[in-house]
Parts: sequence; structure tokens; C-alpha cells
Amino acid sequence: MTASAHTTARLLIVGPQGSGKGTQGVRIAAAYGIPVVSTGDIFRANIKAGTELGQKVTAILDAGDLVPDELTSEIVRDRLSQEDAANGFLLDGYPRNTHQVEHLDAFLQERGESLDAVILLDVPREESLTRLRLRATEQGRSDDTDEAIAHRLDIYEHETAPIISVYEQRGIVDRIDGVGSLDEIAERIVAALDARGLRVLV
Ligand code: AMP
Repeated sequence: MTASAHTTARLLIVGPQGSGKGTQGVRIAAAYGIPVVSTGDIFRANIKAGTELGQKVTAILDAGDLVPDELTSEIVRDRLSQEDAANGFLLDGYPRNTHQVEHLDAFLQERGESLDAVILLDVPREESLTRLRLRATEQGRSDDTDEAIAHRLDIYEHETAPIISVYEQRGIVDRIDGVGSLDEIAERIVAALDARGLRVLV
């Protein structure tokens, strides 16, 4: 290994809905001893608890639309300011468009930080659709209707995919084949991060 070892792991996992990024994100975060910061999970927890935020975003999530950038970015800032995120975190679901990239950049720059790597899970649209339909029957998520699924994949292609080229220009994207067993995919991710000098901590 030629890359020098990092003492932080500030990661982002990106991929279309149904790419398995949630599942892999949890595994990778556990391996590196960092918290997962999933905006989708934060919104769903607030909806479930009936908070003011939850009431504000219920209809947006059900339609598969995006929650306004300002609101989402404020939530992420608060979360990343907590002590457990001081040496690293794994972002899942944020940033989701180029505006949010700017918000995140500004926040990290203020703290003299930056992302170490962006894990891009590559999964064909057909495979994503199949997995999402399966999850809809297994978990009964209210935004896993056929219509909302198609809408979310469209938003991904039009709004989220462009953020990848932004990060590619910075040389921090690791494109990972997202088809295979959970273990195989996790191993591919760890190998890519290892090559960047990011070592498994726990
Ligand atoms: P996810 O669990 O990442 O698929 O997110 C579920 C839903 O939460 C999305 O369809 C959006 O309605 C909302 N959401 C999650 N993250 C964001 C974000 N970064 N910006 C705006 N809306 C978001």
C-alpha cells in the first residue's frame, strides 16, 4: 500500500434506490467505527414519532419528491456537529443534488474537513426496480409504490447522478459493482477504501 493511512473516514455512499446502499452503508460504517447519517432514516424516524419535522415531510416522502434543500442541509449540519461524527461519518442519501453538494462543501470547509471517498454502487435500473418491488412487499414502505419508485429513480438520474461527476473531478469516487452477494460487495468497497489509505478501525 503506497497511500498514507488516514485517521478519519468521511464517506458518502451513492447509488440509485434499490442499489443496496443502505445495507452496505451500515456494514461499512460498523467496520470503520463511524456513524451512518442517513437523511431518509432521519425523516422516517420523525414521521414515525409524529414530530413537527415529520408532519412537514410526510407528503413529500410519500410522493417520492425531495425535501427542500435548506431544511435537509440544516438537519445534516446538526447531525454532523454531534461528537460521534468528529472523526468520520458515512453519509447515505445526502447530498442528493448539486445544491446540497455546495451546502455540504461549505459546512465541511468551515471545519477544515472534506470527504475522503465517495462510494458509488453501480446497479442497472432493472435490477434496482426488482429489488425495490421486493422491498415494497417485505417492508411495506409507503414510498415504495410503483409510481413513487419510478419517480425516485428519475430524480436519481436527473438530479443525483450529476453530483458524481463533481466528485469524480476531485478524484474521490470509487465505482463499485453493486451486483453480487452482500459479502462480495462489502469486500469490494473495503478494498477500494483500503487503497486510499482508509483502514478498517474495528
Ligand atoms: P432514502 O431513504 O434515501 O431513499 O430517502 C427517502 C426519501 O427521503 C426521499 O425519497 C426523499 O423524499 C427524502 N430525502 C432523503 N434524503 C434527502 C435529501 N438529501 N434531500 C431531499 N430529500 C431527501
